[in-house]
Amino acid sequence: MSVPVDRVSALSFHPLYEPPEILADGSKVRRLNLNESPFPPSPAVIAAMTRAAALGNRYPDGEARALIEALAAGSGIPPERIFVGAGSNELLAASAEISLDPGDQMLAPLPAFPTYAKLARLRGAEFVGVPLHGDGRIDVPAMLAAVTPRTRLAFFSSPHNPTGGIMTAEDILRLVQELPEHVMLHFDEAYYEFGRAAGAPDALPILSTRKGPWISTRTFSKAYGMAGVRVGYGFAGTPELALAIRKVRPNFSLSRMALAGGVAALAEPGASAALVALILKERDRMAAQLRPAGFTPLPGAANFLALLPPPGSPNLVDRLRDAGIYITDFVLGETRALRITIGDAEDTNAVVSALLENADAPR
Ligand SMILES: *Cc1c(COP(=O)(O)O)cnc(C)c1O
Repeated sequence: MSVPVDRVSALSFHPLYEPPEILADGSKVRRLNLNESPFPPSPAVIAAMTRAAALGNRYPDGEARALIEALAAGSGIPPERIFVGAGSNELLAASAEISLDPGDQMLAPLPAFPTYAKLARLRGAEFVGVPLHGDGRIDVPAMLAAVTPRTRLAFFSSPHNPTGGIMTAEDILRLVQELPEHVMLHFDEAYYEFGRAAGAPDALPILSTRKGPWISTRTFSKAYGMAGVRVGYGFAGTPELALAIRKVRPNFSLSRMALAGGVAALAEPGASAALVALILKERDRMAAQLRPAGFTPLPGAANFLALLPPPGSPNLVDRLRDAGIYITDFVLGETRALRITIGDAEDTNAVVSALLENADAPR
């Protein structure tokens, strides 16, 4: 007997990096590496959270009734098929917990949100990653072909992180129909609002035609600008599946502040719509300014831009960090692509000039 158990010891650990607030010379740091909103939550959301804080001596509603009712009213999905979590990260974990035993397989695109692979290992399951198309979209036929009798859970996301690629209605329909019923389909819609505003299909009605198990998860972290509040939610194909998620979630994981903030944000849909519109506009502007300099933006519809730098570019993540701009990168096929969170107009201008300055600088 040893603590921690092997499957925990074997996990690699990368402490989540917190960028400094300002550089040594006093200049501004731009956090464009975590797909956060550049703006604080709205005054109404902050006021609701402040009121909730005054009741902080009392446990929150563990069943999140008010938030679930508001989500039901907005989506048309009955409350018994809706669940909430402290960010959708908690719901990805719940999904792995209800579907994977040791020795099972989890399927996900590669590259994807790193949490998926970590959750497979934590459950003692095998992670099977299926390469994306060269333009960063999920390869649905290849994912379906990778299913085995041991596959129990498959993650898909649209728009996809880190590329931003979206799945077409035909892609989703094929997935819903052809993914065998012994596999739970987890459709991660962290960037749902951005995708919809950019013309992506509404997956929920298509998912609802699936015979096998499915859930979809969304979050207040991205399009509602509430990443620091930690509130996410999801829809399940059946009440039984939603109940399974509720059973495995830690008690009271959403604070009173998170619950109240979520309800207040849903009462003000215009605020999120305005944020989404501004971000998509800045995203297009950034892409248009970088294209002529040899950067190749990947097709996408999220609050970030993924792009291939001109061949022979130096390490632009490092170069931009020296200028106080935090972005990230990932490997797509044989190439290293950049992922830049879209911020306000000033952020766009700063990113564009830093990239143009450094792209053809000597390595
Ligand atoms: C940001 C993100 C999430 C969720 O984040 P939470 O803050 O935990 O809600 C989930 N999936 C993907 C793909 C993401 O990019």
